[in-house]
Amino acid sequence: MSTKAAPAIRTFSEGVQAMVRAALSHMQLPEGVPESILAGHSVLQVRFPVKLDNGRYQVFTGWRAVHSDHRLPVKGGIRFAPWVDQDEVEALAALMTYKCAIVDVPYGGSKGGLTIDPKQHSAGELERITRRFAVELVERGYIGPGINVPAPDLGTGEREMAWIADVYRGLHPTDIDHLACVTGKPVTSGGIRGRVEATGRGIQYVLREFFRHPEDLKKAGLPAGLAGKRIVVQGLGNVGFHAAKFLSEEDDLRIVGLIERDGVVTSAKGIDVEKCRAWMTREGGVKGFPGGTYSPNGARALEMACDILIPAARENQITHANAGRINARLVLEAANGPVSFEGDRILLKRGITVLPDCYVNAGGVVVSYFEWIKNLSHIRFGRMDRRLDEMRGEKIVRALEAVGGRPVPEEVRRELVSGADELALVRSGLDDTMRHAYQEIREVLRTHKTIRDYRTAAYYVAVRKIAHSKMEMGL
Ligand code: NAD
Repeated sequence: MSTKAAPAIRTFSEGVQAMVRAALSHMQLPEGVPESILAGHSVLQVRFPVKLDNGRYQVFTGWRAVHSDHRLPVKGGIRFAPWVDQDEVEALAALMTYKCAIVDVPYGGSKGGLTIDPKQHSAGELERITRRFAVELVERGYIGPGINVPAPDLGTGEREMAWIADVYRGLHPTDIDHLACVTGKPVTSGGIRGRVEATGRGIQYVLREFFRHPEDLKKAGLPAGLAGKRIVVQGLGNVGFHAAKFLSEEDDLRIVGLIERDGVVTSAKGIDVEKCRAWMTREGGVKGFPGGTYSPNGARALEMACDILIPAARENQITHANAGRINARLVLEAANGPVSFEGDRILLKRGITVLPDCYVNAGGVVVSYFEWIKNLSHIRFGRMDRRLDEMRGEKIVRALEAVGGRPVPEEVRRELVSGADELALVRSGLDDTMRHAYQEIREVLRTHKTIRDYRTAAYYVAVRKIAHSKMEMGL
């Protein structure tokens, strides 16, 4: 099999493969290794009927794809959306393999999808549908703490994950690790603090790290410092909302555009993200939000002038059709696959920096990994050592006061005597992981002069690690 870029990209999967081939073209791997990395492992398709509230039955179609099981369990979200098909699920499973490798999370890649418009169903119907889908996947070995661990994605959240966990427990009542069969659960049902907002939080850490490197900013054509930067975010769902909210809390960063399905709200002064989201939840869209100017043409708003564009809605939003008109210096791929292969080439040619999905939105899987470890260890992070930390902090304060002869300022004292709780530990682990991954990607760019973009460098990092583990195992 050739590792050169394929000439025509027809599907999402082909787009992901072409991006990986671009990285492979910079490496020398033994015969068979590139093929084994690119090839998807397996896909399960299920069809099942569910009785709706009106007494009729509807048949649903869903998939769970495993891209690579070089590490177990495999990991990846389950999405509920009307357009979901097998190719999309396979492409997203592949992205998970590379993403996990980039952030050093010891999982293979998987993804699930159900063709459904959740908005058309009552909570009761969604529960029956989710539970039935989960039964199908558990019974066929596509869900389990040591084999395949789903998480939320588009159209699913904590509620669906709690239902899935309950189904697994019902089918495996003696499995003491049953809670680890799925992540993104509510904190009260075995979840972890900080998971809901993890992907958005990760995006904030990515941006902070990027801005720590003056050379990288210079190459991107961005003046130093986050202050004063204008950001446009597409998608005000889990990922987009949290990313926009956290970034708007950074000193003097302004969210100047929020794009949703029904249009865009803009404001040069900056938009109050929480108010806009509350409005959207109440009204079903951003139209009429009083904190900005509304326009129905959301797709066009991707082209508005800004410093940083964050597509956080869905795939294929920046393509050959509009990449030539994107008016940002930096694109952060918060969604999976928001820039198509051709769109990416155009942005690259135009000197627009793209930080790729396989790195940027990995915060979710990083914190899912922490949740899985918590479930397997059956203890909350910080439970054993928090008080010890506090006592150590109190001793340091007393020593400082004895040496200095005056009281330690209240703010410093508070920081020193507070032991790290679960949320603080999760944030610290996430921040550290995102920073470290950026530095690894950056090092590839620095040492491989033929690699000129972050996406190829990120896939290079991923493929190098996966190839290594495959070769160690003898493929
Ligand atoms: P979500 O369903 O919570 O939010 C998606 C939002 O995008 C919704 O508000 C929707 O109305 C909006 N949207 C859909 N189409 C749009 C369009 N054409 N223009 C503008 N807005 C549009 O989903 P999410 O969990 O936030 O996921 C968003 C993306 O991030 C997906 O690509 C997903 O695969 C990816 N992702 C999610 C996570 C996670 O932890 N949830 C982790 C990694 C990657």
